Amino acid sequence: MQGTVAGRELLEPRSLGDALKMLRDEGPLVPMAGCTDLYVALNFGTLSPTRFLNLWSLDSLRGIQVRGATLRIGALTTYTDIISSAAIRRRLPMLAAAAQEIGGVQIQNRGTLGGNVANASPAGDTLPVLLAADAVVELRSAAGTRRVPMTSFYTGYRQSVARSDELIVGFEFPPVRGRQWFRKVGTRAAQAIAKVVVAGVWASARADPRPRLAMGSVAATPLRLSHTEEALGRGASLAEAQEILQREIAPIDDLRSTSEYRRKVAANLLGQFCAERRT
Ligand SMILES: Cc1cc2nc3c(=O)[nH]c(=O)nc-3n(C[C@H](O)[C@H](O)[C@H](O)COP(=O)(O)OP(=O)(O)OC[C@H]3O[C@@H](n4cnc5c(N)ncnc54)[C@H](O)[C@@H]3O)c2cc1C
Repeated sequence: MQGTVAGRELLEPRSLGDALKMLRDEGPLVPMAGCTDLYVALNFGTLSPTRFLNLWSLDSLRGIQVRGATLRIGALTTYTDIISSAAIRRRLPMLAAAAQEIGGVQIQNRGTLGGNVANASPAGDTLPVLLAADAVVELRSAAGTRRVPMTSFYTGYRQSVARSDELIVGFEFPPVRGRQWFRKVGTRAAQAIAKVVVAGVWASARADPRPRLAMGSVAATPLRLSHTEEALGRGASLAEAQEILQREIAPIDDLRSTSEYRRKVAANLLGQFCAERRT
């Protein structure tokens, strides 16, 4: 390990209110949830901050609830919680599918939905799901709460509208009508960061045939593919939709893949999404 825990400070709030006051009065502090991303940075020697705020014991940030028509998932909810939730399997199966493909069991036990979203990697597996589901991110500071649609949460590579005095406390999901779909292409079937990851919903109503589609690992931020959606909704051919998709994405070459390969995979996944609509 290149980094060290020596010389770092960990604050232990007793409640969410406590945590928000610490962020306001004792910052800058880095929130720490399951620590699965932060620990990787420590291991690589790239974790520069020295003061951390431990969220792990804040049970009010955990849990999955159905409130009227809305499904709410707390930020500290782990992938294991998501996989074992009957409410999520029933209402948001694409999120359960994404959670099942994240890391191994150890990572699923510690890694949180809030951590995946806050970490803001363009390859984060749950992010296309949240985009395609029209999720709302609930941010809270000592000054109050604001709700930000996932589609306007990210502002650039690993940048979001969240302020340093705010925590992600949870996510709200309106009912998702239609058939949900999730695919991840990585180097291998498990323990792989996505080369391309996609979530989609085929609308069930004939009156509104426009699907919802979002992809990760194909641009600086995960993308909701609104032009491709529009083309599919008006009945464009697959070839035309694939051409439009190529204009919407901007993948890069990196150590996991090339831009060219990502473009091909993205087009193939769109083809699969369309083909599986009919099965
Ligand atoms: C072996 C391994 C395999 C992995 N596989 C995958 C994979 O397949 N797919 C994938 O998407 N990811 C994967 N990851 C990455 C990681 O597990 C996920 O991103 C996980 O969801 C991070 O959650 P966490 O609670 O551990 O976050 P942490 O590491 O605690 O925090 C991550 C970032 O989010 C911030 N943060 C956390 N919670 C909050 C909050 N509530 N409010 C504000 N900021 C917050 C932290 O300050 C930090 O910047 C893997 C990691 C490892 C080590």
